[in-house]
Amino acid sequence: MPRAHAVLSASGAYRWLVCTPSARMEEQFKDESSSYAEEGTRAHAYAEYLLTEFLLNTWNRDDEHTNLHPVIPDNEEMDSAVREYVDLCIEKINAAKAITSAAQVVVEDRIDYSEYAPEGFGTADMVIIADGVMEVIDLKYGKGKPVSAVDNPQIRLYALGTYLKYDYVYDIKTVRMSIVQPRLNSVTTDELSAEDLLAWAESVKEPAKLAYEGAGECVSGPHCDFCRARHACRKLAEDMQAAIGDCKDPKLLNDSEISHILDIYSRAKSWLEAVREYALKQAVDYGKTWPGYKLVEGRSNRVIDAAAIETLRGLGIGDEVIFKEPKMRGVTELQKLLGGAKKMEAMIGQHISKPPGVPTLATLEDKRPPLELDLTDSFDDDI
Ligand code: SF4
Repeated sequence: MPRAHAVLSASGAYRWLVCTPSARMEEQFKDESSSYAEEGTRAHAYAEYLLTEFLLNTWNRDDEHTNLHPVIPDNEEMDSAVREYVDLCIEKINAAKAITSAAQVVVEDRIDYSEYAPEGFGTADMVIIADGVMEVIDLKYGKGKPVSAVDNPQIRLYALGTYLKYDYVYDIKTVRMSIVQPRLNSVTTDELSAEDLLAWAESVKEPAKLAYEGAGECVSGPHCDFCRARHACRKLAEDMQAAIGDCKDPKLLNDSEISHILDIYSRAKSWLEAVREYALKQAVDYGKTWPGYKLVEGRSNRVIDAAAIETLRGLGIGDEVIFKEPKMRGVTELQKLLGGAKKMEAMIGQHISKPPGVPTLATLEDKRPPLELDLTDSFDDDI
């Protein structure tokens, strides 16, 4: 079952803390669950099942999960990625239990941070408390973008809610926050004293109040990428147009203007795509018409049904004409079928290489080293 979301959700905090009206603006648009989000929900359910089973078997925990229903992963990739996360959690649980048998371990813990952000609640994937140290671990099943735990408002809100729930029993001094992205081989951790976490929480109160009221000024930025209002947001549209219209030279763009356009390229592309998708969906689902546009049938390719094979054979056409040679699967597809990256590496690692990528422009913050080019043939001597 998908998790319920607060208006001031922890996952949206990186957005509503910067653009306070966004939380209420998003409410005007349906939250269409993507196949990736649904896959993530199933991965979390599988992780919860494995961890609960471990706790029941190892620590004889007699809690509400006694009637545990098995959860089956979608495929081997999910099985291996989630098990990586679960193994890491088990390591941490065992370490905490070694410190004190009174260590508190909770899976999928419902937490509440409404004292700082109105009606704020969420679910911490894994909580371990031992000897004044509380650790909150968040599983991210996606493999789109790496997400760091450092200065991350989402995991800080989970940690805040967890701290508020347990501090009166465990006298928590240190708060550790980890994000595990097994499909990107990434584990990042941030650590704060309880005082620093509470000081940060104080700084959240004012923007959270504005966000809850739908007040404040819209501020566009990278946080717009997953905003449900982005296709209709006036501020984003104005900023995109201003960014391109900023170019001063009437005829030619100068170098810094081209750099400026490169800066906004990804955001502009994803924003334009969001507007186009929204307009198309409205037209297809509700018959909406847009000035100057009509809905038409898109281009399609001819298809052939399997019965044609026998007809062609009956006409004396050989199988070498009808069928293609079998083709080897691509690395990603093969990796899934072989049970994940580690298993594939063990089986055929020596046959896998990575050719140099096509040159691309990246910002100076990008971790890849700059390409060294041989430009000796690129310029004429007399230029
Ligand atoms: S698209 Fe960006 S600027 Fe507009 S509401 Fe969403 S977060 Fe704010």
